[in-house]
Amino acid sequence: MNITFRLGACLLLLEACSHAPPLTTSVPAVSAAAGFLAGAAARDITPDLARSSQTVYVAGLERGSAATGIRDPLFARALVMTDRKGVTVGLVILDLIGFFHDDVEELREELKRRHPETTIDYLAVASTHTHAGPDVLGLWTPVGGSVDADYVAHVRSEAVEAVAEAWRLRRPALVYTGTATAPGLAIDTRLPEVIDETVMVMGLRAASDGSGIAALVQWNSHPSVMGGDNTEISADFPRHVVQVVEKEWGGTALYASGALGGQIGSGRLKISDPATGKRAATRARLAEIVGGRIGEIALGALQEAGATGDVRDPMFRWRSRGVLVPLDNPRFTEGLAIGLIRARRLYPLPAKGPRDDAGTGWLPQALPRDWTLHPGAYALKSEVAVVDLGPIRWVLVPGELYPELSIGGIQQPQDPGADFPGAPSEPALRRLSARQIFIIGLANDELGYIIPRSEWDSEPPYAYGREEPQYGEKNSCGPGTAPILLNALADLL
Ligand SMILES: [Zn+2]
Repeated sequence: MNITFRLGACLLLLEACSHAPPLTTSVPAVSAAAGFLAGAAARDITPDLARSSQTVYVAGLERGSAATGIRDPLFARALVMTDRKGVTVGLVILDLIGFFHDDVEELREELKRRHPETTIDYLAVASTHTHAGPDVLGLWTPVGGSVDADYVAHVRSEAVEAVAEAWRLRRPALVYTGTATAPGLAIDTRLPEVIDETVMVMGLRAASDGSGIAALVQWNSHPSVMGGDNTEISADFPRHVVQVVEKEWGGTALYASGALGGQIGSGRLKISDPATGKRAATRARLAEIVGGRIGEIALGALQEAGATGDVRDPMFRWRSRGVLVPLDNPRFTEGLAIGLIRARRLYPLPAKGPRDDAGTGWLPQALPRDWTLHPGAYALKSEVAVVDLGPIRWVLVPGELYPELSIGGIQQPQDPGADFPGAPSEPALRRLSARQIFIIGLANDELGYIIPRSEWDSEPPYAYGREEPQYGEKNSCGPGTAPILLNALADLL
């Protein structure tokens, strides 16, 4: 990741939506009496390098790396499901580095405008976080440039079509869910070493003939296997996950990135290529091996799930909450101020008084001239959500979660070098319930790293006796992000 902000301490609870508004006017394509329904569809969102009005920059590891070709196409992959009572939930996952919350909200509005027949109670928009896709955030575009707004609009439009098509294609379905682990396929380069090796999978089959409708696979590692030198557009290893799963299961596969923050990746793996017995010759080949392996693990879990039977009469229960994330990171505020980072609405925070006490209204177009000098003066609006479907639980996290916040393992006792002595540990999401937890990261926003507050370490002395800080804080909203998001999520659980 390479996002940049920093945030102060709190996030404010803006609004809480809860459950399903009733289905209104239009008649579903298939009557609710048909029981549980599912449909899926995908739309190509590959940028057209030849026709693009401006240079496409790869959201790789460095700023200013122009795309030189297309290795493999990018997609918006959508899944829409309706339970017996008519509650409908959609998930669309983009082969992109991230998608800001303002664009997510616009996408939802566009769906309602263009396809009012799609009565979707809750739509989540997530990104795989491929580091080989185009920069849609502004963190990889050279200073003086800006994100291609036409391309972002194109993505929104295609994602809307994918969701609408998935909605139309819904048919009676059976749900299967499985869990597995993927040991040795990711590396943690930041202490403490904690890796969430969980692979979650849910599969949907047509009730009529057993053919595959869709599968959702969730694992936890940066899709940055193509590496920093890559200049070709690619979905990175998730491309191979979905290919392997679709070939065997059928239908449309979706890949969700979970707890990949701080700093979980697979690009430095030293695993041998089964074809040669030697180390993978290229990064592209390594992506194929890693993605293929995750796909096989997911298929294995689905096979086991098939043997135990489908989820009986699954019913949805969902809740989402708007939150405000104070914005302190100078890199991010400056990027926004000069139009480098894609514009998003800002909320003013009160100059005095508790920061969790205000944050209403939009900031006027014109920013005060000295606004970047006041970190914490503004906040970003974001969103957390939980979707339950029978025993399955999706936890929708608007950024890059540290694995300590997924499976636990926050350093105890706290390192004396860390910046916030005595900071309490946030809860670990997978430990909060016995359900089958899908951590869907980069969901409905990209806020950067979500770092346990007690591990926050940007000031000397540094933890672990290091001479310099570990990588992470400069791409986080700030030390308040994790407690704010995790507490809001814990409330929803
Ligand atoms: Zn990242």
